[in-house]
Amino acid sequence: MNIAFIGLGNMGGKMAHNLLKAGLNVSGFDLSEIAIEHFAKAGGVVCESPQAAAKNADVVITMLPAAKHVKDVYLGENGVFEVLKAGSLCIDSSTIDPQTIKDLAAVAEAKGIKICDAPVSGGTIGAGAGTLTFMVGAAAQTFQDAQPILSHMGKNLVHCGEVGAGQIAKICNNMILGISMIAVAEGMALGAKLGIDTKALAGVINTSSGRCWSSEVCNPWPGISENAPAGRGYTDGFATGLMLKDMGLAIEAAAQVKQPILMGGLAEQMYQQRCLQGHAGLDFSSIIQQYLAPENNE
Ligand code: NAD
Repeated sequence: MNIAFIGLGNMGGKMAHNLLKAGLNVSGFDLSEIAIEHFAKAGGVVCESPQAAAKNADVVITMLPAAKHVKDVYLGENGVFEVLKAGSLCIDSSTIDPQTIKDLAAVAEAKGIKICDAPVSGGTIGAGAGTLTFMVGAAAQTFQDAQPILSHMGKNLVHCGEVGAGQIAKICNNMILGISMIAVAEGMALGAKLGIDTKALAGVINTSSGRCWSSEVCNPWPGISENAPAGRGYTDGFATGLMLKDMGLAIEAAAQVKQPILMGGLAEQMYQQRCLQGHAGLDFSSIIQQYLAPENNE
């Protein structure tokens, strides 16, 4: 089986590496020379365009920043749909809006190409360890076809429904995460200001009803959660800029169906402000800095 992997960045590079480790043939393309270098070192076949990578491929996997890149790779001038044979399978793991993948699926279907959205959670650590969760939107047979490939890169493969359902699951989950992180930051900052020991406070929250991933695994207060970005200056985590993108996707999707998302809207504005202040590259848990006096932020 020949696999084409397009988008070999922080996530895609590690995912492609896991496919290579499993002994699969992987041809790849990325606009970044550094990404290409790492891929070549891991044993991948470097190609000079998405089309060149996809030419003899049975499976195409894309892991790109946003919808415009995904559309460009599938439908653009050197787009892969032009060269893929009928019966081949496309897996888009980028986090994008549900409508874009549905539009791509309509084009693919007309060409006899199978396609699914398979966004992930688990971050760069999960991508490296091959333990990602894939939220898959696909016809039942396409999900079955994708499973053996996805299982080299992930541990939990969840069939969410038809094409687009994976992206719906992803953006709802990340909207909750973005809101819950702000709630935990607010609670931790209030507790500290009122004079409670922050470890004691976190201990109570994490055995009480305030407990969530943001309080337990990725607490924004430094020194609470082992290995959390808060303990290393909010580096090497899930960038605030990417969280802002995901909150924007939730707002866009909500607007399409006229569904109010009040907390989501407020949270999006808070991440927007952080990015404007120059913190787009810091982990999104650094939102707690909005609540602290300047001396705490040094
Ligand atoms: P990244 O920016 O590190 O990687 C994206 C790669 O795509 C880059 O190497 C870039 O050069 C390449 N690229 C852009 N346009 C291209 C094109 N036209 N052709 C070929 N390559 C192109 O981003 P990432 O962190 O790997 O994230 C990828 C996707 O996964 C995003 O949609 C993101 O929201 C999602 N995601 C990221 C994380 C995370 O923790 N980083 C977690 C879950 C989901």
